[in-house]
Amino acid sequence: MPDSPSDFIRDMVRADVAAGKHGGKVVTRFPPEPNGHLHIGHAKAICVDFGVAKEFGGRCHLRMDDTNPTTEDVSYVEAIKRDVKWLGFDWGEHLYYASDYFQRFYDLAEKLVERGRAYVCDLPDEEFGRSYRGTITEAGKDSPYRTRTPAENLELFRGMRDGKFKDGEKVLRAKIDMSSPNMKMRDPPLVRIKHAHHYRTGDSWCIYPLYDYAHCLEDSFEGVTHSLCTMEFESARELYDWVISATEVPHVPQQTEFARLNLTYTVMSKRRLLQLVEQKRVSDWDDPRMPTIAGFRRRGYTPESIRDFIGRVGVAKNLSTVDVALLESCVRDDLDRRSPRVMCILKPLELVIESFPENEVEELEAPHWPAGTEPGADIAENLRGSRKLPFSRTLLIDRDDFAEDPPAGWKRLAPGREVRLRHGYFVTCTRVEHEGGQVSRVICTHDPATRGGIASDGAKNVGTIHWLSAAHAKDVEVRVYDRLFTTENPGSDESTDWLLELNPASLTVVRAKGEPCLAQAEPSARFQFERVGFFTADPDGKPGAPVFNRTVALKDAWARQTAKAAPTKAAPLVSQPATTEDKKPAAPLSPEANALVTAHGVTAGEARVLVQDAVLGALFAAAVAAPEGEALAKQIASVLVNDLLGEMRAKKIDALPFDGKALVELVQLGQAGTISTKQSKDVLAEMIASGKPARAIVEAKGMKQIASADALGPIVDQVLLANADVVARYRGGNVNVFGAIVGLVMKQTKGQGNPKVIADLVKEKLA
Ligand code: ATP
Ligand code: MG
Repeated sequence: MPDSPSDFIRDMVRADVAAGKHGGKVVTRFPPEPNGHLHIGHAKAICVDFGVAKEFGGRCHLRMDDTNPTTEDVSYVEAIKRDVKWLGFDWGEHLYYASDYFQRFYDLAEKLVERGRAYVCDLPDEEFGRSYRGTITEAGKDSPYRTRTPAENLELFRGMRDGKFKDGEKVLRAKIDMSSPNMKMRDPPLVRIKHAHHYRTGDSWCIYPLYDYAHCLEDSFEGVTHSLCTMEFESARELYDWVISATEVPHVPQQTEFARLNLTYTVMSKRRLLQLVEQKRVSDWDDPRMPTIAGFRRRGYTPESIRDFIGRVGVAKNLSTVDVALLESCVRDDLDRRSPRVMCILKPLELVIESFPENEVEELEAPHWPAGTEPGADIAENLRGSRKLPFSRTLLIDRDDFAEDPPAGWKRLAPGREVRLRHGYFVTCTRVEHEGGQVSRVICTHDPATRGGIASDGAKNVGTIHWLSAAHAKDVEVRVYDRLFTTENPGSDESTDWLLELNPASLTVVRAKGEPCLAQAEPSARFQFERVGFFTADPDGKPGAPVFNRTVALKDAWARQTAKAAPTKAAPLVSQPATTEDKKPAAPLSPEANALVTAHGVTAGEARVLVQDAVLGALFAAAVAAPEGEALAKQIASVLVNDLLGEMRAKKIDALPFDGKALVELVQLGQAGTISTKQSKDVLAEMIASGKPARAIVEAKGMKQIASADALGPIVDQVLLANADVVARYRGGNVNVFGAIVGLVMKQTKGQGNPKVIADLVKEKLA
């Protein structure tokens, strides 16, 4: 298989095929439970399951794992099928439902009972868990019902099936070993009573199999050879094998686990996604801010870009959270070839060209594609070549492209400055008009010798901006999306409510102006709004009243914004670079950087730096190799990239007087709460200067962290009193200022306060 990527799963399958295991066949399955929509984590499982089968000439089944009657629904089944197809995978004839096997599960369970391998237990699950199951260090003890005879058990089990008992009154347990070191093997439940209506089998059953009993049998019934699942099932593998062997089913499938995919700035559990939908925090499962396949599709992501992303993340066993910026960069790379260029103004400002005749409209010709780009086959005919752009005396430009008092290095329009109107003319600003203290109009003259935006005398060193003829511009609604959460790992701090981490500015609706061709865009048509980003027409739009979703900005405005630490300022709607020409798509992650992401869970951004910077890269490798370093790999990477890199650049240092072990010590001091984040930065600066070990510096300076609520409480009170206006904004619903309040308290403690304790106090006092 020359094109097949290499990873531990593919290596295993390759070896199995070569050895003729399972008759040399490869059969996999993707087994979603139809209790929610698929998300990007499922996309990974889909790409692995279907991908491996395809690469090795096998097949992959789509199986609805619908053994739990209370949460499943047929609408989810249809959505799942649609999403898998959209991602580009095909199960052919092989669509299965676990609920079709209920009778077979039952028959095999009777066999287990007859053979004395399972028994009916009357202990409620909680009681069994509390006093019989034992703990990781202590063996459990036998249920008093464990010695029932097979005949007795069979009668009771049939009674369970016939509805003679209430929910939870009895359960069928495997009879394995209450002292097994694997807790999963301590007489686990196999079949439970649940008087509930099932969306497919109706009221035929009042007993339902548990996952650990059903899943392996489903795999066996279908002839699955390689059952690939995520790491949380690792400890269940022993039980998987036990059930296969105890039921004596003829086909023996084999389970292998790989790491789940997690993504920054979002949540992935279906339970939480459901909560967002039910609480109307998002419009629905397909809200373009959701990490669901349906959400990404509506937002304008392509299946190709998602598959590319999954491929770059790779398959491994260590858990990692992947930077969403990597996904966005895959999307940008792909959309570049699929998106005709058009102009759209998000914050219109009038520009009048006094030198251009009134009532005259000139038709300029503008290509939809940069030179050398071949539009994809799916691009509509009218968008393949170029379009006519009306040019007139009154134009619109973006407010962000004009500065009355321009900062140094400003390349766009300003009083007295010249700029190129893309595909238009060069114009020079002669005067500005104001209204209500704001610039209301920019007055310019144009250079008629520069028609089409081409300088008559060759190159002119000025910026290029986009524009529209005011009379010809169409109204378009633009929905600009930002991260759904403000934190990288929402909900990782279990003591706070994860919903508080929602980004209140995740959606901005903009009344914009666009080129005439946008007015008739079909839903899901894609465009690049020049200098702004990639956009996709939303189904909410109507002919003449189009709606566009921002799929992704041209460059990562978020990273630049947070780097400047301006949390309350909205991200700029127009990206910074003055021309499209100087825009380069983010480079794909190199295999070396990718390896760091998967091996250590560092972010893509950190991995890039560590691969590019030899000093930092070597220090990182030494630190994770030092005792206790590996467990702190993420924190080490963060200190290196966020703190050390800045210090080294600022002071132009290219060699460091300390080693990886010393770095681990510093990170440990922070992790143990001995020093605060701010103090950790000070210690690092001192380590660079003196080469002394972190602990010695901390002791010499008598540094300590203030972590007691008693000490911090009065400071918090004082800050809340002194900042009544900010507090009022918070109480008025602007949860965004919460971080600012915590920051004010931190400042009062001179950086010695423990941020977590402070956050808890602030929250408590504001409640
Ligand atoms: P969640 O925990 O989000 O509710 P789930 O695991 O319960 O999801 P299922 O429908 O049971 O959802 O998942 C179907 C398959 O997808 C399983 O094989 C599971 O291992 C896999 N899967 C689910 N989430 C991820 C993820 N984040 N990364 C990779 N695979 C995943
Ligand atoms: Mg599951």
